[in-house]
This record gives sequence, C-alpha cells and structure tokens, in this order.
Amino acid sequence: MPELSWKHHTLIQSLLSRGPLKADEFNKMYEKVTGRKPGVNDKLFNDYLLKINKELSFVQFELRACTNQYDGKVYYGVVNNVADEQSKLGSKYSVPQIAFYKGIIEAIAQDAAGQGCITNIDALHIKLDSQIPSGSQSQSESQFQDVPAALRNFSMSQKEKALEEFVQDGWLTKLDGNIGLGIRSFLDLKSWFHLNEVPSCEVCNEAGVKADLCPNEGCSIRIHKYCLVKKFSQRTVEKVCPGCQKPWPYTVTKAELKAELVESEDEDEQNEATEGQPSNGSQRKRRRNSQFQTQTQTQDSANGVSSKTTRLRRSSRIG
Ligand SMILES: [Zn+2]
Ligand SMILES: [Zn+2]
Repeated sequence: MPELSWKHHTLIQSLLSRGPLKADEFNKMYEKVTGRKPGVNDKLFNDYLLKINKELSFVQFELRACTNQYDGKVYYGVVNNVADEQSKLGSKYSVPQIAFYKGIIEAIAQDAAGQGCITNIDALHIKLDSQIPSGSQSQSESQFQDVPAALRNFSMSQKEKALEEFVQDGWLTKLDGNIGLGIRSFLDLKSWFHLNEVPSCEVCNEAGVKADLCPNEGCSIRIHKYCLVKKFSQRTVEKVCPGCQKPWPYTVTKAELKAELVESEDEDEQNEATEGQPSNGSQRKRRRNSQFQTQTQTQDSANGVSSKTTRLRRSSRIG
C-alpha cells in the first residue's frame, strides 16, 4: 500500500472540507505543498493525483476533475464512489429530498435541446411518486413502505427549501430563474451520465449536458460551447460538424477569443518561467487542467472496456 505524506493529506483535507475547488486554487495548493508548478510537468502532477487515488480507493472515494459546463471552468473534488444516492448525498438529506434531487437531474440530463437546465417552476412540479430510492432494497420493509407516502406528502415549500439547500451545497445551481447542475453533480454523476446514455460532447467525450447541437437536420452531434470555441478559434480548423461534415456556422466572439488566448498565454508564461525557453505564442497547448481528466479516461480505454459500460466499476480504474 503506498504511503501518503502530510502533503497529500493537506490536499485531500482541503478538498473534503472546502468542497470542490477551482483548478487555479487547487493548483496553487499543489504548488504550495509540493513546491512544483502544475502544468510544467504533467506526469509528476498526474502521478501525484493517482497516488492519492490509490489510497482513496480503499475507502471508495476518488479525486476527480470535471468541467463546469456553464462556464467551462475546471474543478477538482473528492467523490464518494458508493452507488446509492443516500451515501453520495450524505445523511443530511431525507428520502423525499433525494428523490426530488434525482427527479431534477433526470429532467436536466434528458433535455433533448442540451440546455442543461430546467425552469424553477418545472423543478418545483417534478413528480416524486415514481422516484424509488435505489438504496431501498437494503432498507427494512417498514421503511420501504413509508417511502411513497413521504414522497406524496412532500410539499411545495419543502421542495423550495430543498432546492435552496441543494444550491447551497453545490449539487444544483441557479441560472437566471432556471435550475442547473451544481459542480458537485458534474463531478459525481460521471458514471450516471453514461449509464443513462446522456449524449457525449464530440470534442471532449464528456456528457454534453449543457451543449450546442449541430444545426444540421438529422444530425445528433452535440459539443460544449467551450469546446466549440476552442475548436473553432483555431484558424486552420474548418467550421464543419465533425459528425455530418456539413457547415457549423459559429462566430467566435472577440471576448471568447480573448479568453482563449489569455489561457494559452498563461500556460506559455508558466512554461517559460521554469524551462527558461522563449515562449511561442502561436503554439497552442492542450488545456492543462483537463490533463488529469484525460488521463483517467485513457485508463478506462486501456482496460479494454467501452466508455458506456465502464462507469459502474468502482476501484478497478485506480487499482
Ligand atoms: Zn466538450
Ligand atoms: Zn452535424
């Protein structure tokens, strides 16, 4: 069993106590405890996180990276790999609250338009009767029989209160009168997205919960806005759909282009500072913070399991 130092524990503790952290915060902390700049040596960075994961897998936890699909920002967090929602959401929530959460994420993920959200009103009107908590098989029979009544009697004001709590805890998020997925859901639901066949983004292969759809009739390709910007802001890339090969008219706005350039310049600067080599502004690098994410995906395919079916496996990815 690999031994973790206090440095590893510092990282794990901050993720557990402060919830998912933005990549730049996480990177700063990594730099502080290891004295190494993340993004300079990706292998060291990945190895460090994999070592943490090896240890966490014994208690069915996992350190993950994910992208907030509404703004394209990367986050790191520790998730519970136990399958049922009761354990994932912790003892804080009641059975009807968990059923309510499940109803909301289903409605959001199954939206054919890829908007990644539902209106507040729709959220409050989600029917709970059909939601049977998946942990119920292991519960005692009397508890199980109580569930439907508890769900039926879950009032509007209780739903409103639950919504507030889920938003506060990062499971859901508020977007101009709409309800979307919180960063914890993006982190935690990776396997759930695949099991429920939420269509993936054609560029990054992550679930396209909030994504743009190919404008051409009969084509079901979807791509995250930030992946589209990244792809189409490269001058040499033709603006066509990678699926149907027909034109995908998309104008990268000045703001989007600027944000994209700033990001790659940041990376160049970092590399320059440590490697002492002149920066090459035109050289486009892979988004640093998704490296770790990419690596865990690669491991999946290395195990020879198709991405749609891998996700239920618990620790085999890490072991
Ligand atoms: Zn994508
Ligand atoms: Zn298409």
